[in-house]
Order: sequence, then structure tokens, then C-alpha cells
Amino acid sequence: MLKIENLTHIYPNGTRALDSVSLEVPPGMFGLLGPNGAGKSTLMRTIATLQVPTSGVIRFDEIDVLATPDALRRTLGYLPQDFGVYPRVSAFDMLDHLAVLKGYANRGERRDVVGALLNQVNLWTVRNKAVAGFSGGMRQRFGIAQALIGQPRLIIVDEPTAGLDPEESNRFLNLLSEVAENIVVIFSTHIVQDIADLCQNAAIIAGGRIISRGSPQKLVEQV
Ligand code: ADP
Ligand code: ADP
Repeated sequence: MLKIENLTHIYPNGTRALDSVSLEVPPGMFGLLGPNGAGKSTLMRTIATLQVPTSGVIRFDEIDVLATPDALRRTLGYLPQDFGVYPRVSAFDMLDHLAVLKGYANRGERRDVVGALLNQVNLWTVRNKAVAGFSGGMRQRFGIAQALIGQPRLIIVDEPTAGLDPEESNRFLNLLSEVAENIVVIFSTHIVQDIADLCQNAAIIAGGRIISRGSPQKLVEQV
């Protein structure tokens, strides 16, 4: 369970991007819906320990996230809005390298782990191609595989469907919902339809405040 209490973030220029945000997120898929500038990325980066908030508390299971960010990082998978890729490195080699960084020392074990992930996100057949040449949908699915290395219990995904067509979006969200079976997965979006079908829970953020939360069905009726 992820618990956020009274999280406020004021940027140095005075913008109050998060205004006393409180949320409880149980395991499963959680959709954070909000328009541009609502504070979604700020919230995602803050939970992912990439940004220190002005005030507030974040707890994930037994971890006090703001006091011990390293403890969270060990169990976090984060997929930012735009992630960089090396121009010529293959999907397999990128995942293999990440697996090394995550502590998989044994080459054979890495081959198994990376192969299973590539199968899971349906990219096994293109494993030797450069990620830089992937379509938007393929790239986002690759992003899930990246985020899953090291068996995280919390996955944060910032606007994953931006730039994808409806079919690619659907495919991506279906995959994410399979991943979310036993862990906490939060994704942000500005598209109402994205939260309608597959999320167990959702919230709407606007102007840095949570203005509504509950079942996706209930929220979709409100917008
Ligand atoms: P409503 O949405 O009409 O407020 P709920 O039953 O969803 O009714 O909420 C009851 C109370 O629990 C409210 O005070 C609400 O702020 C709080 N609450 C509901 N969901 C959450 C959540 N995910 N995180 C934190 N507090 C919540
Ligand atoms: P979203 O992801 O929902 O589009 P953001 O979290 O990116 O929202 O932005 C929330 C608010 O904070 C916006 O008003 C945005 O302009 C502002 N903001 C974001 N990043 C910065 C920053 N580094 N400095 C100042 N203001 C920022």
C-alpha cells in the first residue's frame, strides 16, 4: 500500500504544483487523471524520489519514502514520460545492462530474466533491434520491461499513452494491468478513456489538488 499525506510542492518560482495531496493506493492498477499542468509529473517524480517535496509524508508499506529514499529505490520501477535510448544498442543488450546494474551478476540468469521480460511485453522477436528504431507502442512496452527488472513492488508510469494511437494505448494498458496483479502500479494520463476499463482505482487531479477519487466508473461519469 502506498500512502501519501498532505503532500505539497512549491517550485522556487512560487508555483504550487501540489497542494496538500492525500492518496491511498492499494495493489492493482491506479489511474491518475488530470489536464496539462495539473501536477501529475510533479507527483510521479516525487513518489519516485527524484524530487523532494516542500512538505508531506509518503509511505510505501513499511518504508518512509522521504526519510529513506534508497529503500524505496530498491523496490521501484519508474517509467518517465520521455526516456532516453542509446541509438545503436539492441533491446536485449539494454535490458541486460540494466540487469547488471540491478545486481544480476550471473550471465545465464540475466539471459533468462531478460528473455522472460521480452516475451512478456511481446518484443522477443525484435530483441536484437535497436530500441531507437521502435514505434511509440513498442518503445512504451520496452519501457515496461525496463521498469520490471529487479521485481519492483511499486511501478510509476508518467503519461505512458501520450502519443500512442488508441490501439497501441489499449495494448499498453492491458499489459500494464497484467503486471499490476500483485503490485502497486500508478500511471498518469490526461485521457479519460484510459482510466475507464482497466484500473481498480483512480483519482482526478487539477491545479495540484485531488478533486475526486474512487472507482473509475464513478469518476468517468463526473467528467
Ligand atoms: P467521497 O468520494 O464522496 O468523498 P469516499 O467513500 O470515496 O467518498 O471517501 C470517504 C472518505 O475517505 C473521504 O474523506 C475521502 O477523502 C477519503 N478517501 C477516499 N478515498 C481515499 C484515498 N484513495 N486516499 C485517501 N483518502 C481517501
Ligand atoms: P502535469 O504533469 O500534470 O502536466 P506538472 O507536474 O508538470 O503537471 O506541472 C504542474 C505545475 O507546476 C504547472 O503549473 C507547471 O507549469 C509547474 N511546473 C512544473 N515544473 C516546474 C518547474 N521546474 N519550475 C516551475 N514550475 C514548474
